[in-house]
Amino acid sequence: MIEGNTNVRSARFGAGSLSELDLDPGNFLVTTMEVPWRHAEPRLKARPKAVLFVENMEIETLERQLAAAPVVDTVVGIGGGQAIDLAKYIAWKRGLRLVSVPTILSVDAFVTPAAGIRRDHRVEYVGQTSPDPLVIDYDLIRTAPPELNIAGVGDLLSIHTACFDWDLAGRAGKSEYPFRPEDITHARAILADTMAKAGAIRACTDEGLRAIVEGYMRVNTICLPAGHYRVEEGSEHYLFYELEERLQRSFIHGWIVGLGIHLLSRLQENRHAEMVAFMDEVGLRYQPADMEIRRGDLEASLLNLRSYVAGRRDLWHTVINEREITPAWVNEALATLRF
Ligand SMILES: [Zn+2]
Repeated sequence: MIEGNTNVRSARFGAGSLSELDLDPGNFLVTTMEVPWRHAEPRLKARPKAVLFVENMEIETLERQLAAAPVVDTVVGIGGGQAIDLAKYIAWKRGLRLVSVPTILSVDAFVTPAAGIRRDHRVEYVGQTSPDPLVIDYDLIRTAPPELNIAGVGDLLSIHTACFDWDLAGRAGKSEYPFRPEDITHARAILADTMAKAGAIRACTDEGLRAIVEGYMRVNTICLPAGHYRVEEGSEHYLFYELEERLQRSFIHGWIVGLGIHLLSRLQENRHAEMVAFMDEVGLRYQPADMEIRRGDLEASLLNLRSYVAGRRDLWHTVINEREITPAWVNEALATLRF
């Protein structure tokens, strides 16, 4: 199906695939949240030894939950990004088999090896895991609100701005990694294939949901061997990091990345109108009003973005370093958004 290293040791795609999963009763634990668990529990053939609910992703909380978890062979993550990340953290720390069951496609946590955790509210990626299997049960995923599944395209559309950034860094001799134009070509093919499935994604059909999952897996065939996510993460994500630290709250990942694509593709002068039209067509939300972001906060965030990036040594060279964000630019850009 997909060539190359996808990080997914095995996968089961299909409506009803969770109910066909054979798990050793009493020898696995589940990490989840209330709503996904309500939908998933009746579909499981076996009962888990324990169910751990996500509290928050701060390292102290994760360590406390880990210490209290019973001895089992397998950890099954059922839910969105945080439920899966908690499962990954436990699987990594204890050397357990990981089963990933996304109930929503809003983030790509279920196909990436590292667990996204927080240390003092700052994102950090730790550990190394592979789902075995990854269970993509379309019926289960469709229990989530459609706009949250559609949010999953955010991390694929970000290829558009991220590849521009990497290309910019490569040409300036400022790429932090060996610059590989073939990776950019490959990533842009994934972007084009995703954009060709707009109708199916908007309607959350099996085909549309599969397109998102396969898009993520294909991105991994580039990013895992390279050892970085440069083709899908760039300036559009950096705006999100700044806003998250500034406002000290979380966002629907694909939506905030969508806002980043809107603003940073404009700064890049990189087919901005086309990307905005596509986000509207596929139904990806990106408006500040959708995320309760106030105009003053977004304005301050944009004006601070360059010094924010400069203050973080782990962030890459992007358009933010090359083009100044002026108050006049911010005024013009924000006039096209809804608050
Ligand atoms: Zn992302």
